[in-house]
Amino acid sequence: MAETGLVAAMTGPREPFVLLEFPVPDPQPGAILVKVHLANVCGSDLHLWRGDYKPADPGGSKYRSVGHEMVGTVAKLGPGVNRDSAGQPLREGDRIVYRYFYPCGQCRACLRRQTPRCLHAMRYRFSPEVWPHFNAAYGQYYYLHPGHTVFRVPDNVTDEMAAPANCALAQAIYALEQAGAGWGDRVVIQGAGGVGITAIAVARELGVEQIIVLDAVPERLALARQFGADETLCLRDFPTPSERVARVRQLTGGWGADIVLELTGRADAFPEGVAMLGVGGTYVVVGNICAGHTAPFDSSELVLYGRKVLGIMWYEPASLYKALQLLSTRQERYPFDQIVSHKFPLREINRAFAEQDAGRVHRAALLPWA
Ligand SMILES: [Zn+2]
Ligand SMILES: [Zn+2]
Repeated sequence: MAETGLVAAMTGPREPFVLLEFPVPDPQPGAILVKVHLANVCGSDLHLWRGDYKPADPGGSKYRSVGHEMVGTVAKLGPGVNRDSAGQPLREGDRIVYRYFYPCGQCRACLRRQTPRCLHAMRYRFSPEVWPHFNAAYGQYYYLHPGHTVFRVPDNVTDEMAAPANCALAQAIYALEQAGAGWGDRVVIQGAGGVGITAIAVARELGVEQIIVLDAVPERLALARQFGADETLCLRDFPTPSERVARVRQLTGGWGADIVLELTGRADAFPEGVAMLGVGGTYVVVGNICAGHTAPFDSSELVLYGRKVLGIMWYEPASLYKALQLLSTRQERYPFDQIVSHKFPLREINRAFAEQDAGRVHRAALLPWA
């Protein structure tokens, strides 16, 4: 009998995940079969489970593959694969991280500046019932399709540190680079989840002068300070948007921020974040992936002050490579191992989602082999 592995599949918004068993696929040419060690519950996985985020349904199945932030080892290399995307030799047993999306390289989005926002990049997100079954992070295996971006994890980077690299950390690097963050900048981070916390380290490494972080949860802000945030604002102490905007102005010498990163997943963060910007500042929207969630906005706020807005989703291969470099060389300076706050066996995925949904867990990691 063929070897089998488990997948935790979503059955509907706020419905329990179910564990399914499928034969372990043999990798086709150019593919890699990954044994997953650790898979995180990212904010976007929660949005999907809650039913706020509605990506195209693969159709034809009541089961949906979920999960994208993970780390694993090479279980089997497909024919023709012997190096990672940096040219380093790749062997079975090597620990790896990889992009969970696959830009096609042949569409207009890919043609123009090789933007990561290819419209076909999720073409392999099949239902788990469809071969190769292991199409997302919540399973014992992950099938890394041809056309992937993959990097070997440096030995001194633990699984707990590496797991957020392919979403939170690479995303923070790409977003801040696109915003042109650098020396002398004052940066506001709305939301101290996984991306927000890692963005503090990235901003500091890029030379940013002042980092101000906002969140509603004191424990998250404590971690933000451990990562080196200069100022933290708790929404409990500053309950209205106008109070928060006034406080940011005060902290930035009356000028406002040069860059504000939206990492809350909330539409109403938009008008507030733009109002925190100084003249010529840039607002970067990353968190809100929920279509249909809106907030009233006065567009003269952009025109009168020469402000820009960037929407950012995904990142380039180099962002993930840099994420590993940062984890390997700066772990004395930033407590990267604290981003994952709790661990659950994969079979307790429903408890992990319920706890994180209730705010009792900041970032859960699932252990497929526990
Ligand atoms: Zn994510
Ligand atoms: Zn494309």
